Amino acid sequence: MKPRIVLKVGSSNISNGEMIDENKLEAIAKLICELRTHYDILLVSSGAVASGYTRLKIDKSLLSNKQALASIGQPLLMQTYRTTFQHYGIEVAQILVTKNNFDSRTQTKCAKDCIDTLLAHQILPIINENDSTALTEFVGDNDRLSAYVAHYFDAQLLVILSDIDGYFDKNPTLDSHAKILPRVTHIQPQELEAPHTPNAKFATGGIVTKLMAAHFLLERQKSMFLTNGNKLDVLRALLIEGKQTSGTLFGTLPTLPCIIDSK
Ligand code: ADP
Repeated sequence: MKPRIVLKVGSSNISNGEMIDENKLEAIAKLICELRTHYDILLVSSGAVASGYTRLKIDKSLLSNKQALASIGQPLLMQTYRTTFQHYGIEVAQILVTKNNFDSRTQTKCAKDCIDTLLAHQILPIINENDSTALTEFVGDNDRLSAYVAHYFDAQLLVILSDIDGYFDKNPTLDSHAKILPRVTHIQPQELEAPHTPNAKFATGGIVTKLMAAHFLLERQKSMFLTNGNKLDVLRALLIEGKQTSGTLFGTLPTLPCIIDSK
């Protein structure tokens, strides 16, 4: 069995602020195609609300509107993924989950059995939150959801693609002297309480939800890599060549089969 990696893409990684950017999706699909020779990949993708907004302009700050936009956008998003991955001969499947599903052992096992079956047949699972039945706490927070996905579906590593190179000692959009932290093994409680600071129009969590995801995994001896979705070479170097050229690694790098192969 290949090691499992969960790859979470944010709205900013697949949209141009207004609509889904097919070139960005294409670049991600190309990398996933290469990674699949060494790993089983599970994709967690945001972007449903942004996609829905291209069809219906309603106030996204209202929860019920956001849920409605997600339900309009989710099939559009999947349609774009299906077409893009078809170029690489990859069949895709949609799995919608809520945090509640992970509170039940039976439901978690049921979803994991489904994921295991898809991966055994080389189908790429594309996971998103089922926004219309989700409780408010998690709506739009795919960072924490993807940490649950990584842990409960037995992945060795969660990769979060963002619009930022990694985790910095200060907010880099406000302070040009901020320095990237290449390795983090412990997150202080106060770092989890900072105000949410999403950067882009469709971003929701900001750095705090990424730190919460990392904290959840670190407590369970799992790892997370935060890197820039516009610099996919960084992720490629880490997972194919075993070299960390940028990004923040929370925890330790799990043993990578491709690096052992090439030794
Ligand atoms: P995404 O949409 O990719 O999930 P977000 O916009 O939600 O990303 O969160 C990333 C943003 O968090 C960064 O662009 C940056 O503006 C902000 N941020 C605040 N503090 C930090 C920090 N210490 N390190 C990195 N990013 C930070």
